[in-house]
Amino acid sequence: MLVVMEKTATEQQIEQVVKVIEGKGCTARPIPGGDRVSIGVLNNKGPVDAALFIGLPGVKDAVPITKPYKLVSRETKAEDTIIQVGETAIGNGRLCIIAGPCAIEDETQAMTIAEHVKNAGAHMFRGGAFKPRTSPYSFQGLGEAGLKILARVRESTGMPVVTEAMDEQTFDVVEHYADIVQIGTRNMQNFSLLKRAGASHRPIMLKRGMAATIEEWLMAAEYVMARGNHQVILCERGVRTFVHHSRNTLDLSAIPVVKKESHLPIVVDPSHAAGRRDQVLPLSRATVAANAHGLMVEVHHQPEQALSDGAQSLYPEQFELLCRQVMAIYNVCHEDVPR
Ligand code: PEP
Ligand code: MN
Repeated sequence: MLVVMEKTATEQQIEQVVKVIEGKGCTARPIPGGDRVSIGVLNNKGPVDAALFIGLPGVKDAVPITKPYKLVSRETKAEDTIIQVGETAIGNGRLCIIAGPCAIEDETQAMTIAEHVKNAGAHMFRGGAFKPRTSPYSFQGLGEAGLKILARVRESTGMPVVTEAMDEQTFDVVEHYADIVQIGTRNMQNFSLLKRAGASHRPIMLKRGMAATIEEWLMAAEYVMARGNHQVILCERGVRTFVHHSRNTLDLSAIPVVKKESHLPIVVDPSHAAGRRDQVLPLSRATVAANAHGLMVEVHHQPEQALSDGAQSLYPEQFELLCRQVMAIYNVCHEDVPR
């Protein structure tokens, strides 16, 4: 914490801040600047509350310097975390492509799409059995029947499956069938769900809240890790902005920021960011060029008949093209540096 004093702060006001710092068992280190003094708080055991200083006479601001997250931070673990799921991994230096429909609708639909995406080059299959829909009248997912279909898809294709757990009540059953349990954007700060995910033996894919800062997102991951589950994958899926040309705005700058701050792998979902299929291919190319560890894309063989998110679901041929293009970009970006 750095306490920044007003230009006009008196010696007594500076002394008062020093006393507050020392009263908390910390060391105060006044740093004279050109026209004002700042006071560094050193030797603090845990986070220091800015409220201790804001409002004191002569104090302009109190700026936290150390990050509130620990377990997710590169300061705690310098090397990248690799999430191993069967034969596949996320974060191991190879691009991981996850694809499938928004929702599992029936067995034929799921199997048909799974075969398409596998042949095109997908490494994992996605599909919701419990769907968080904005309207209570929209398709809510098949529930456990959908999870059983996912298990059969895994059995027949060998692809691990990613599916969402919406609440604590259904977490057990989702965890039983899923290889990776997804927590959706609307639940990023559902703290009881995050704690339950922290007790899970499955990797958790934590989507960024649609209005969450990167710090809030990393703190949500910290909740999961603090309960003992260190297998967390972050998923950027777009944030709400003022634009109307897409459903959300894909925050690609989150990729380098998250990779710098955290050792956890980051996957990008351009489908929910765009909300329309014509933007998914260019955003996928950009995602891979920006060096994300993975890409998650919605695909449907009959998107016009899809029970959810048809408008953003790619046709299988479009997904084939996407795989070819992103792998080419990936290879260019990972060429060995000539000696
Ligand atoms: C999904 O991936 O199925 C989903 C609902 O995404 P989000 O939570 O990002 O809206
Ligand atoms: Mn969807």
